[in-house]
Amino acid sequence: MEAPYPDIIDTHAHVSGPQFDGDRQAVVERALREGVGFIEVGFDVPSSKSAIALAETAALAAAVGIHPHNAAECGDLSLVWRELRNLIAENRLPAENRPRVVAVGEIGLDYYRDLSPRALQAECFEMGLETAKDLDLPVIIHQRDAAGDTTHILRNHRMARPIIFHCFGGDRSYARDCLDLGGYLGFGGTITYPKNTGLRDLLKYIPLDRMLLETDAPYLSPQGRRGRRNEPAYVRETLNTLAQALGKEPVALARITRDNALRAFDL
Ligand SMILES: [Zn+2]
Repeated sequence: MEAPYPDIIDTHAHVSGPQFDGDRQAVVERALREGVGFIEVGFDVPSSKSAIALAETAALAAAVGIHPHNAAECGDLSLVWRELRNLIAENRLPAENRPRVVAVGEIGLDYYRDLSPRALQAECFEMGLETAKDLDLPVIIHQRDAAGDTTHILRNHRMARPIIFHCFGGDRSYARDCLDLGGYLGFGGTITYPKNTGLRDLLKYIPLDRMLLETDAPYLSPQGRRGRRNEPAYVRETLNTLAQALGKEPVALARITRDNALRAFDL
């Protein structure tokens, strides 16, 4: 028997983080009331473990990965990825008819903050891609100021399953590269920021069946709540902005992006 899916899927949240320690249950209930389900995304070993734990109770599913910011502090990357690989293998069995781990991520490159040396970021990224390939899973990509290297590496690895470009930002040629790689583009709070007209203008070039909605909670709150903590329930504001920019009804766009998420992550 299959449990019903929520109306809206937030494909990228970090609700297991310390920012939610005081009121996690209330946050989860607000999401539920708004008809929002979310995918909990790990960024290092501990957060990947707590993502899986949250997927057993509140989250729709979990993703397991090492963020480029965290690559340097992880120690021996081969050991770390071996541990994550085992974690994924143990948690791919359906829990109440749903697999708990549905993607490898977030992984990628961040040359904006450069918190890990670039060579190490690339090494960690490629290990994540190989893990996803071996386990036949999609990947969630974090990329900042590293579009060329990211698409180059992705092309070399020839991923068999979907590539989800989280918090998409960039120009038309980068968008085309991502789409050519079979990518899905995740749109979050940044699409609601008044100065991001370029990003909203770009939307008309993105096929509707490749768009996803996300929050990146607790980060990147939509405009109406900017500067405060973000949470999955607030994805509605992003949905409304995206719908308006596309000339669609929010309900219709919620359904489209939800179906895209079900397909991209094989939920
Ligand atoms: Zn994130």
